[in-house]
Amino acid sequence: MVDNHQKTCTHCLRPAVYLDRVREIHLCREHLMAFVEGQVLAHLEKTNLPPVIGIAFSGGKDSTALLKAFCRIHNDLPCSFLAMTVDEGIEGYRQDTIRAAEEICRVLGVPHHIIRFQDVFGHSLDQLVAGSERNACTICGILRRRALEILARRLEIRVIATGHNQDDHAQTAIMNAISGDEKKIFSGFAESDWYARRIKPFARVSEREVTLYAILNGLFHDLPECPYAVSSLRGEVRTLLYRYELKHPGSMRNAARCEEEIRQRLGGSFTRNPYQACVSCGWPGSGRVCQVCKVLNDTWTGEDKADHI
Ligand SMILES: [Zn+2]
Ligand SMILES: [Zn+2]
Repeated sequence: MVDNHQKTCTHCLRPAVYLDRVREIHLCREHLMAFVEGQVLAHLEKTNLPPVIGIAFSGGKDSTALLKAFCRIHNDLPCSFLAMTVDEGIEGYRQDTIRAAEEICRVLGVPHHIIRFQDVFGHSLDQLVAGSERNACTICGILRRRALEILARRLEIRVIATGHNQDDHAQTAIMNAISGDEKKIFSGFAESDWYARRIKPFARVSEREVTLYAILNGLFHDLPECPYAVSSLRGEVRTLLYRYELKHPGSMRNAARCEEEIRQRLGGSFTRNPYQACVSCGWPGSGRVCQVCKVLNDTWTGEDKADHI
């Protein structure tokens, strides 16, 4: 981190490991960890939760940090939790990350459940995109969401916590704004009793803070990059926002909170399209045939892609 050598923590006399440029304070290891865990706890306490919730655990940095935070504050939590992982079936990449995820859950003593694309859809992601021009990331996102829902139903999980952080929210806010589609800005996903509710306990924690939290807990491993990762609009917006944040600290937080505010205050002013049951699989979706069935039948054209996280 920048310009914080030999600085001491604003709250105590220990050496600082982090400069919060927005609040203009330095934090030591303990106070940075306490800040991150405090944000997670505050988010959970203001949410009405069932006795057990699921953590969407990819094994990546953000979800690993979230799982660790849950474990460290488990005595204060209003619920218990388990970890849920989707194995998309990506040769040469996913086996190692799945193994790492299993090992983390074993060490932390968290119940871990895995669901595989191959088992629920009959094909791995590799097989589904082989020889196809289709965007692997988008297809993966659609199927991963369904796979996670299927696993949640099996486990009777009604609330799923994801590792999305403040930077992800800021990116979504900008992406929605430049899409020019007011429905994306104001409505988001229609609520449905069918789908498990999603919560994002890191919504007010920046990517830098999550990363540092993972490093300080010895959880940051240089995991291989997904071979399907391509330059995307989100990637471009991410780079742009980082540059902006460096020049104008607080921009990222403001963009994220602006989206939250707008959605809370004006979300109800747009009529949401009600879900309708897919004629093929019966799951609720936005059209006659759901996105998942279109992907599996190779008729998906990307026209109804959602840009929410
Ligand atoms: Zn301190
Ligand atoms: Zn369907």
